[in-house]
Amino acid sequence: MPEPGLSVVKYGAVIQVPTEALIDLAYTREPTAEQRAEAERQRLKRAARQVAFRQQLADVTDPLARKILDLHHRDDRGQCVGCDPGSYAEDCADWPCSTIETIAEHYGIELP
Ligand SMILES: [Zn+2]
Repeated sequence: MPEPGLSVVKYGAVIQVPTEALIDLAYTREPTAEQRAEAERQRLKRAARQVAFRQQLADVTDPLARKILDLHHRDDRGQCVGCDPGSYAEDCADWPCSTIETIAEHYGIELP
């Protein structure tokens, strides 16, 4: 059984960090073989959800939605190309951005 994750209190809120995330970020001691296997299972599950999400978005054919989806596509760093970060932001929005999430919600597509 994997160890429970870590609870972090930040600005009065308790944030639960799962063990898999700690392993992914190398914030924990050497993981056991079981923890490594569980982290890999979770990683594959997340990747499969991401692939399914992208495929469902690719299947949207409404012309206006298609133009917006194409504009707000994901770059190689996992950020939205279509969102304007503004002059004070250093990075663009993470993908899927709120525009993509709104379109996904409209079409009943579950977020990854
Ligand atoms: Zn965007």
